[in-house]
Amino acid sequence: MLAETLSASIVGVEGVAVRVEVDVAFGLPALTIVGLAGSQVQEARERVRSAIRNSGFELPARRITVNLSPADLPKDGTGYDLAIAVGILAASGQLRSVERLADTALVGELALDGAIRPVAGTMALGAAARAAGVPGLLVGSGATAEAAAVAGLEVHGAASLGEAVAHLTGVRKLPAIAPTPLPAAPMRVDAPDLAEVHGQPLGRRALEIAIAGRHNLVLSGPPGIGKTLLLRCAAALLPPLDDEEAVEVSRIYSVAGLLDRRAPLLRARPFRAPHHTISTQALVGGGPRVRPGEASLAHRGVLLLDEMLQFRADALDALRQPLEAGTVTIGRVEGALTMPASFALLSAFNPCPCGWLGARTRACTCEEGTARRYASRLSGPLRDRIDLWVTMDAPVARVDTDGVEPSSAVSHRVAAAWHRQRERQGIANGELPPRELADRNGFGPAVMGLLAQRGRRFNLSPRRLHRTARVARTIADLAGSTSVGREHLDEALRYRAEVASR
Ligand SMILES: [Zn+2]
Repeated sequence: MLAETLSASIVGVEGVAVRVEVDVAFGLPALTIVGLAGSQVQEARERVRSAIRNSGFELPARRITVNLSPADLPKDGTGYDLAIAVGILAASGQLRSVERLADTALVGELALDGAIRPVAGTMALGAAARAAGVPGLLVGSGATAEAAAVAGLEVHGAASLGEAVAHLTGVRKLPAIAPTPLPAAPMRVDAPDLAEVHGQPLGRRALEIAIAGRHNLVLSGPPGIGKTLLLRCAAALLPPLDDEEAVEVSRIYSVAGLLDRRAPLLRARPFRAPHHTISTQALVGGGPRVRPGEASLAHRGVLLLDEMLQFRADALDALRQPLEAGTVTIGRVEGALTMPASFALLSAFNPCPCGWLGARTRACTCEEGTARRYASRLSGPLRDRIDLWVTMDAPVARVDTDGVEPSSAVSHRVAAAWHRQRERQGIANGELPPRELADRNGFGPAVMGLLAQRGRRFNLSPRRLHRTARVARTIADLAGSTSVGREHLDEALRYRAEVASR
């Protein structure tokens, strides 16, 4: 006998609906799973066998073939267990009625005793079912909070295979989970305060601009002067995610299995700070089962690369695409896969291997040429995508900490500037395409003329000029100015790499 159930799979950060066809035929007892099923799916055979027996059902002593469709989509993970088990029961005539099978997607891992465990990516899986026209979703009872956030989907949570079957056959219906906004995770931001940073007015200012307009920042300078401390302060300056962003970001974290299931909605803007030993795959995503990397986990937030020149050259190179396009594309045999990865890059490094090149208080002990080779680790294309570049040094005299602004004061200005950008153009200044450098966004003919003139004087490429204009827009926003003026443009030009490396 033949039966069909519905499930879903994750591809990158999106869900895809999957049909599970089960055929129970005469022949030697066997359970075969086909349809590009990876090793975790193959192991479903053992889990499904035990779960069926331990739930009071019978595993038919027949030749059972399970086909996962579409056949060209590689499938892995444990989320198909429930759909396979129910399919076997339906195909072997153990379900009294199968009418609900056609309108309910089944997603969950089975424990050997028949309990249903939630799987990563429930939100994306539910959205895939909905998009495929399936009105219902049955998940493990631990995953209902995530699933209920998918609009237009009737969600049921079952603790076990037995409960799921009783519901699907109408013996004992489970209550539908009311569609609810996701419960929000508490806003815990673990960041030092700007009041702890001694001196460094230029670095502080550049950080504020970078956060306010989502621009890429580099801090260069000797060790121990607070570059890292300053960058870490950024986490407390970021405005919370808005409703739409919160769902978008939470879905990525859901796929990565990084959500607290009881409070799955992320409100704090992502702040990711991977160590320099990270692999390229972990940084931008990939692998046999493509998973979002740090670049996608930083989507809508910040990616902090401390000691940036210590990162693998191919890892840094792989950041070029997200820095330019806001997405990561992973090449695979089955075709390219694109994941969101729009973030502000905050980075710091020492100017040479010993760290003291250009410092006032100590001499660089590196051999000639070493420093140049070291700096060249930051390739031209990557250098080109840095908006703000600040060379820091130790403060000249003892720093008076009176009057130093704490993070709370700066975050107010950042929030106001952020609001202005949203109201005016709907996106951050750091994302403004060249055609948006227009009068309606505060780029009048006068400032555009000035921009062209500065570009000629400093020999800036069109890309650099465009980036400078976007930074100037943010400086104007921080000042509460509707139009971009000469003073904003000239401040933006102070943060260009050519000034910093002098
Ligand atoms: Zn040196």
